[in-house]
Amino acid sequence: MPRGRKKKYVRPKIECNCQVCDKELEYPYVHVSLEPTYFVKKDKNDPKVLHKDLDGSVIGYFCDQNCYRETL
Ligand SMILES: [Zn+2]
Repeated sequence: MPRGRKKKYVRPKIECNCQVCDKELEYPYVHVSLEPTYFVKKDKNDPKVLHKDLDGSVIGYFCDQNCYRETL
């Protein structure tokens, strides 16, 4: 059986607008930031959750890192 090539990471298609320049995007630069309190509130009994599903996480959509930098 031939070894397959490693799958290339493909950004998910998300239709949205850049939060900085309001440009329409299909493959945005997504930035997820967690509130610092999350680490305090974390419940040991909770099953693993994806970051983006956590309460208190803030998701930002941008054209690229340059636009994201505008928010810092
Ligand atoms: Zn932008």
